[in-house]
Amino acid sequence: MALISRVIDIPVFLHIDEDCVEKIGDILSEANLSFDKMLLLSGNTTYNVAGQRVVDILKGLGKTVDVIKISDSTIETAEKVRSSIKHSNYDVVIGVGGGKVIDVGKYAGAAEEINFISIPTTVANDGISSPVSVITYGREKRSIITKMPLGVIADLSIIKNAPIRTIRAGIGDLLSNISAVKDWELARKIKGDKFDEFAALLSRGAAESILTSDSDNIQEEEFLKNLVGSLSLSGISMGIAGSSKPCSGAEHKFSHALDTIAGGPALHGEQAGLGLILTTYLRGDDWKRIILIFKKWGIPTTAIELNISKGDVIKALVYALEIRPDRYTILEHIGIDKEKALDAAERTGAI
Ligand SMILES: [Zn+2]
Repeated sequence: MALISRVIDIPVFLHIDEDCVEKIGDILSEANLSFDKMLLLSGNTTYNVAGQRVVDILKGLGKTVDVIKISDSTIETAEKVRSSIKHSNYDVVIGVGGGKVIDVGKYAGAAEEINFISIPTTVANDGISSPVSVITYGREKRSIITKMPLGVIADLSIIKNAPIRTIRAGIGDLLSNISAVKDWELARKIKGDKFDEFAALLSRGAAESILTSDSDNIQEEEFLKNLVGSLSLSGISMGIAGSSKPCSGAEHKFSHALDTIAGGPALHGEQAGLGLILTTYLRGDDWKRIILIFKKWGIPTTAIELNISKGDVIKALVYALEIRPDRYTILEHIGIDKEKALDAAERTGAI
């Protein structure tokens, strides 16, 4: 019998360092990659922060670079970018920006079978190096399986100067892996859901490395390196699982419900972080530990800090049952209702 093993999809290169964007030419040649006609996707602000610099460097290397700036990650925008790729012969798409730029770039690149390079300017969520794109359809956000980026260049000089709120949100999104893996284990036990131990280990381990960090300054280089690396591992765990399950359970259903009910009042990672506190309480686990860690790093632990009304917290917890109904979580398990939602929100001090 042939020797059997699994092949795991990971980016060809990952660079997490100060000023590494400056070395993009060397990074590509070290990886034996050569592109001539590039599409650079960026946001209006992020273009000024980093996009323009990347264009200048690449043009200095003799490359042709077209630029598209986007301001949202709706399906209409994503399809427009896809159409531009279709009608030009780009050999790579480079996304320089926050989550929306990376999501649209991965989506459009994968749809047209063009490689995508991720250059995040913030670390607000785990999409940096994952094969999942979050695309907005009306008021609903859908996670779509796309393709793992060809490579990731995370320039810490850019990331550390992004609003500190984005770093806090990234921590919230990462720590929510703990809740997501618990839900996945529950779904295996109760529903016989297909479970992947490697994906679960990677996702939980990534969250633990930040959970156990004793750093006081989340903007310092060492902490950010750990955070970007851990978010990248989260992305790879989704690649191994072939779904967002290792990083998205009840706390993410709560966040998606908030998007639908209240139009996404806060950053994804902030909403998932609040969801983590609530679902940890509902599970009967140590939610106070999560609050202590969040407070140490200034991560919001209450609805009011996130501009969410008390009523919307309760509504979203119950409405979360309507989000991805096929994904069994603690919410389905305990039969969440208005009364249980109110108890969790009040006891944890979320409202
Ligand atoms: Zn997330």
